[in-house]
Amino acid sequence: MARYTGPVCKLCRREGQKLFLKGQKCYTEKCPVERRGYPPGQHGPAQARRRKQSDYALQLREKQKVKRIYGLQERQFRNLFRKAAERAGITGENLLVSLETRLDNVIFRLGFASSRNQARQLVRHRHVEVNGRVVDIPSYQVKSGDDIAVRAKAKDLATVQGSLESRTRPDVSQWLVLDEKARVGRVLREPTRDDITLAVQEQLIVELYSK
Ligand code: SF4
Repeated sequence: MARYTGPVCKLCRREGQKLFLKGQKCYTEKCPVERRGYPPGQHGPAQARRRKQSDYALQLREKQKVKRIYGLQERQFRNLFRKAAERAGITGENLLVSLETRLDNVIFRLGFASSRNQARQLVRHRHVEVNGRVVDIPSYQVKSGDDIAVRAKAKDLATVQGSLESRTRPDVSQWLVLDEKARVGRVLREPTRDDITLAVQEQLIVELYSK
């Protein structure tokens, strides 16, 4: 599946806020959002001066923000939205739960990787097992009771060790439990909206795709 390989700081600047796409480096490096708080490109400063945004622009920006946080392309995101809309319950919440239960996100939440990009790479490189079997699909949806482990060969990888040691973000989510020494995590239950601490207005995304 294609993925964005350009400069990630540009994405944060476009959304006008820190999306922490570089993981740990976002806490230690100078952040372009703080230094240049306007969108990238020739017309960026002018766009920042424009006061009122249309409803459509607000909805689009919210969708782009969530898509970029989780590192998805448009088609993947839309497919997830379609499935979320087909399920019972509130579509926006279903969408966030689907994003949160992706294997790459769970690896990131457990602290085995310092960013979702790094987590995706760990999965792709076959360093991750779910219930004792190697899974190399970052979009794999984990379920309650699943055990997520870093494979024996990769337990001492510098990225895994460095990420666990230098975690500055809040502790592991309530719906997950981590055995740091064994490098194993367990999914206790499906996350609820309250477990997902991202400041996003998922209703705007539903409105955008419902047009
Ligand atoms: Fe975003 Fe991190 Fe770059 Fe700042 S340093 S713009 S938070 S990716």
